[in-house]
Amino acid sequence: MPEIPDIEAYLASLRPRVVGERLQGVRLANPFVLRTFDPPLEAVGGRQVAGVERLGKRLVVALAGELFLVLHLMIAGRLHWLATGAPIPKGRGLAALDFSTGSLLVTEAGKKRRAALHVVAGREALARLDPGGLEVAGASPDQFRAALQRDSHTLKRALTDPRILSGIGNAYSDEILHRARLSPFKQTRQLSEEETERLRQATIAVLSEWTARLISQAGKDFPEKVTAFRPEMAVHGRYGQPCPVCGTAVQRVAYAENESNYCPRCQTEGRVLADRALSRLLKDDWPRTIEDLERRGLDR
Ligand SMILES: [Zn+2]
Repeated sequence: MPEIPDIEAYLASLRPRVVGERLQGVRLANPFVLRTFDPPLEAVGGRQVAGVERLGKRLVVALAGELFLVLHLMIAGRLHWLATGAPIPKGRGLAALDFSTGSLLVTEAGKKRRAALHVVAGREALARLDPGGLEVAGASPDQFRAALQRDSHTLKRALTDPRILSGIGNAYSDEILHRARLSPFKQTRQLSEEETERLRQATIAVLSEWTARLISQAGKDFPEKVTAFRPEMAVHGRYGQPCPVCGTAVQRVAYAENESNYCPRCQTEGRVLADRALSRLLKDDWPRTIEDLERRGLDR
């Protein structure tokens, strides 16, 4: 699932390629990817690109005349940069945004078709697509605390719910919690002020470090290797491997199709929580799947 660092890396790569250029049109290989009908897709053709932006985990192409193309890649959606008019590959190819400088191809792995494209007119309509979660980097410590404590949730849930915090999913929430030395199972309302501040700073640091790393790794190329699993990660996707801070084997909690990873020494006071002990917690307040949360965000 592309999260803030992945989307920012896409944007950094797209900006010099498309801003100020013309969007010739959009080709759809799968009509279901388009979730809006007014304004019609044809209305975007021929417009100049005013900018590219991020809205939570969505990528926005802002066009002259305040029309916006909003793309949500969900879990398996990816972007590719090809020569203008390049054919859309059969199967995983969903759409192509044809710019005068090249074509941005949208693909989605697997059988489920979740990726979504919206066309909206005006900033107000664009804002309505925002699930409403706080952008932590631009928020004050008070705003962060208020967002976390509005309801009682596990930290894992609070970090990954796009209505609470913006742009964070399964991978970076694991990394943030490890950096903050906090248990994914801790309840938001049980956090001390010091822990809340530690979590805020860890969130900002992890997201900005990873954004810089992914932009630098792509260099002048378009980022083609967008994945939730990276060798530099501390705990995410590293079950059984040593924690880079203390050397303890990273543990996991499996739920639905997802897995969350944590270091028991750094984060849970040495406790490895048994599946049975977790079952109630998982049932009550755990991201059933990140996809579910994202869909709820989409329904707004
Ligand atoms: Zn550790």
